[in-house]
Amino acid sequence: MQSQTSTQEMIKELKEVKNIFTNIEKSEPKGYSHELEQQARLDLAMSLQMSLDQDWIINKFMEHIHSYFLFDGFIYNCAEPDTQIKYARQKGHSCSYNLHIEDVELGKLELFRGRKFAESELVLLENLLSMLVYPLRNAIQFKQAVMQAHSDALTGVKNRSTFDESLGREINLAKRYGQDFTMLVIDIDFFKKVNDTYGHKAGDDALKLVASSIQKSIRTTDMLFRYGGEEFVVLLGNTDCEKSYCIADRILESVRRIEMKINDHALDLTVSIGMACLNMQDNSESLFNRADAAMYSAKNDGRDQIIVA
Ligand code: GH3
Ligand code: MG
Ligand code: MG
Repeated sequence: MQSQTSTQEMIKELKEVKNIFTNIEKSEPKGYSHELEQQARLDLAMSLQMSLDQDWIINKFMEHIHSYFLFDGFIYNCAEPDTQIKYARQKGHSCSYNLHIEDVELGKLELFRGRKFAESELVLLENLLSMLVYPLRNAIQFKQAVMQAHSDALTGVKNRSTFDESLGREINLAKRYGQDFTMLVIDIDFFKKVNDTYGHKAGDDALKLVASSIQKSIRTTDMLFRYGGEEFVVLLGNTDCEKSYCIADRILESVRRIEMKINDHALDLTVSIGMACLNMQDNSESLFNRADAAMYSAKNDGRDQIIVA
């Protein structure tokens, strides 16, 4: 996947932008300043090339806009990747723009102000927006590529290599700040039977449903990984053992409630969960081993239950 445009492409894009300006400038309203716009365009073009970070680019762009005319606040929403950036007040008069390059959606930007926006300001803003779209598209593509590299293709949750990268860091943070930290190892019960009875495609669908019900049972600050085949790991930061047990119980219950039918036959899905709460002696390996051993105890004890290490 291409994450950054080459210099030649960038020059071509800037020429296209110049054409857009040429067309718009024919109908410029009263109070409109060419010199102001030229300077703004130059400053913007220079600074927006400096990063591939979507948040940084939007904030930098708005910082520039603010130096040319006043606004009270703004909101930027993007569906893919799911992003929202807000600043100050979102009330009063507004002007909004759906940003896109051809059919690639780049999100919606809305500015707010107590006083109405003047026509000359809107023309300037629209011209400057065309300087935003190409760097923004590059940043979005880059973010999507990074997200893809970190997620599991089937279920969309974080993948094993992200787990390996994250665990040590999360444990160190918890220890440094003296916070509770819990790991859940979750394995689907009798999953081989699902594949054997209904086929691999049904198995894949069941895996997606289980991943999504685990995701819905945890908080946005918790982390869910697909560790391997039909095994998941959840990391609960700043969460004591008691609260973690409630979350694990919620997961157990939500998997039991999954409704999946194949040829009118309802599938009964359950998981076994091993839980380990971090202690001062733990490292990544020992914490995982304790949670994993607890998960195997849950299997041996009859499955569809939680065992605490
Ligand atoms: P237990 O309750 O002891 O965990 O039994 P199990 O059948 O779940 O465990 P086992 O390890 O015997 O089988 C796991 C199965 O998961 C075997 C494998 O084919 C299946 N599996 C692993 N990854 C995938 C996948 O991506 N898609 C599908 N459809 N099946 C998968
Ligand atoms: Mg299993
Ligand atoms: Mg397994």
